[in-house]
Amino acid sequence: MPPPVFRFAPSPNGYLHLGHAYSALLNFDLAQASGGRFLLRIEDIDTIRCKPEFEAAIYDDLAWLGITWEQPVRRQSEHFAFYREAIERLSAEGLAYPSFESRAEIARLVARREADGPWPRDPDGAPLYPGEAKSMSSAARKRLLESGEPYALRLDMTAACARTGELGWIEGGRGADGETGEIAARPQAWGDVILARKETPTSYHLSVVIDDALQGVTEVVRGWDLFWSTSVHRMLQGLLGLPQPAYRHHRLVRDTAGAKLSKSTGATGLRELRAGGALPADIRRLVGLA
Ligand code: GLU
Repeated sequence: MPPPVFRFAPSPNGYLHLGHAYSALLNFDLAQASGGRFLLRIEDIDTIRCKPEFEAAIYDDLAWLGITWEQPVRRQSEHFAFYREAIERLSAEGLAYPSFESRAEIARLVARREADGPWPRDPDGAPLYPGEAKSMSSAARKRLLESGEPYALRLDMTAACARTGELGWIEGGRGADGETGEIAARPQAWGDVILARKETPTSYHLSVVIDDALQGVTEVVRGWDLFWSTSVHRMLQGLLGLPQPAYRHHRLVRDTAGAKLSKSTGATGLRELRAGGALPADIRRLVGLA
């Protein structure tokens, strides 16, 4: 049996906080305890919000925590051409279409539809895509693409579901509502998700499944805020013929007021705690991994 492969995959768009420390330490500990491998992946496809100083701080903070990882580190921003290939494949199979509405136009469309009653929202609370770009004539689509209009490339979720049939996964941890064991995927709950944009030829969902497969990740251990995203990941794995890793979602570390931690770290930032004299063992204790 090859060893299990774990990974921690932060986005360098802010400094790490206790929630990241918990996830990184948990993955590292599980890898060590099982004789597995531990990878670090930098998810920096958002080239505006991701910054070199945050990436440098990630390496520094993780090393301070006593975590070691394999080299080279995969940085997603170096692989856009690779993701583009998958996008082209899905498009060629008639599973993706460009939509041209701006964010403001989408908000207006949702407001108009909500005049007739509630418009469905995805598991993160964002309204499903309300537009009709899927049924645009191919001539009109071609014209807009050729005129250089910005667009978001969306997955045709109805066609995708028809292609894969029912999907699911075995949850080794739990979701925020206690879901565990055999989970039926609900990709439809996300509507026609964005796979890429004109200026960013990938998305979180697409690059995460491609990289997990490419890096041979067998164990995805991450926060339960991403629990229902797994539905989309299972869908993309099905469409692209990628293997299914084991999934284990973990609790989130809350601040003292019980709120989810954010990137503006304040009192829960590893840098702040460290500057205040905390030791790695204190961080382990604070996140419940002593
Ligand atoms: N890059 C994602 C984040 O920082 C995590 C991706 C994952 O673990 O699947 O939230």
